[in-house]
Amino acid sequence: MKLEEKRIWLSPPHMGGNELQYIQEAFDTNWISQAGNNITEFEKSLENYLGKNSFVTALSSGTAAIHLALQLLNVEEGDFVICQSFTFVASANPILYLKAVPVFVDSERSTWNLCPDALDEAIKFCIKKGKKPKAIIVVSLYGMPFMVKEIIAISRRYEIPIIEDSAEALGSRYENQLCGTFGDLSVISFNGNKIITTSGGGILISRNQKDKNRTFYLATQAKEDKDYYSHSEIGYNYRLNNISAGIGRGQMQVLEERILQRRKNHDFYQGVLNDSEVFSLFSAPDEKYYSNYWLNTIIIKHPDLQKEEIAKQFSEKNIETRYLWKPMHLQDLYKDYYFFGTNVCGMLFDTGLCLPSGSEMSDRCRCRISELLSGIKI
Ligand SMILES: *Cc1c(COP(=O)(O)O)cnc(C)c1O
Repeated sequence: MKLEEKRIWLSPPHMGGNELQYIQEAFDTNWISQAGNNITEFEKSLENYLGKNSFVTALSSGTAAIHLALQLLNVEEGDFVICQSFTFVASANPILYLKAVPVFVDSERSTWNLCPDALDEAIKFCIKKGKKPKAIIVVSLYGMPFMVKEIIAISRRYEIPIIEDSAEALGSRYENQLCGTFGDLSVISFNGNKIITTSGGGILISRNQKDKNRTFYLATQAKEDKDYYSHSEIGYNYRLNNISAGIGRGQMQVLEERILQRRKNHDFYQGVLNDSEVFSLFSAPDEKYYSNYWLNTIIIKHPDLQKEEIAKQFSEKNIETRYLWKPMHLQDLYKDYYFFGTNVCGMLFDTGLCLPSGSEMSDRCRCRISELLSGIKI
């Protein structure tokens, strides 16, 4: 049997070097649980990075952060919540945790995120039904910022708050402003395959100390500030632990490097696919958009070429690829809910593929990928 070359993963974790030292610190001081210096320092480093008006609470996952964001906006049973259909299921599931009703909205072609026209249509529909949506969940998919200006204008016009799901977009910018600073509440994930990781974890970013305090309170079983265990609301066990936060502290030190490495991957793909008649690489629509290029994605231009076939060719060379996120309105779980748009995201799902985009990708890996891509002809 022929010797397989090493597997090329889509987006593997990439440690910076100081993570173990911060974990050791947690052991040395015996702060092993959901409190300690690593958590405080991790939150501080993110607040410094994101800049003023960013109040950060470290949580056990990005999903937990979206759940608490909805709670902070008083989403209750039966409420409408607008959500981008083209996303990972974690953006939408917390709506159902609260027995609220998701209203899915299509993507536009330039950023693959919320389409302003379809959003406007969806909001009008909800209002006509007698219930203004309680929140708009907008995503910066694959690291590409959404149409910030247009979406914020709609949010302001109807006075509906934005939950910015920038789980994939730490370090991305729109008009030089960082993702994670656009929402009334914003979310970033540190899951294992994101641009930096805490093994598992996330943050909720609020715009004032009061919301940060409430996030902490809800994430710690809604325990009231008394000298005995006093509770008058439902809370959760959603706090990040001090070991994971140690990984996060080390990862924050290499964030800038990781962004540049991912962007370098994008340059590589641009070089390979520049004149391709088979594939088009998804890239920023103009210079206002600065993506961290968490994942590089391609669209197959030729109708005779199926994504399944391309994925198989990669797999045979021991290279991981992945289909784009299957839109929520096409999922069995969500197919009976409202959807507004023309199924742009369904079309992207049909013809798209995610390619290896790890920050540690070697020249040899690039060579194997480029050979394969250039060899695919119609
Ligand atoms: C990863 C991700 C999440 C969820 O984050 P977890 O930390 O895995 O819970 C939410 N939304 C999007 C778009 C994601 O990619």
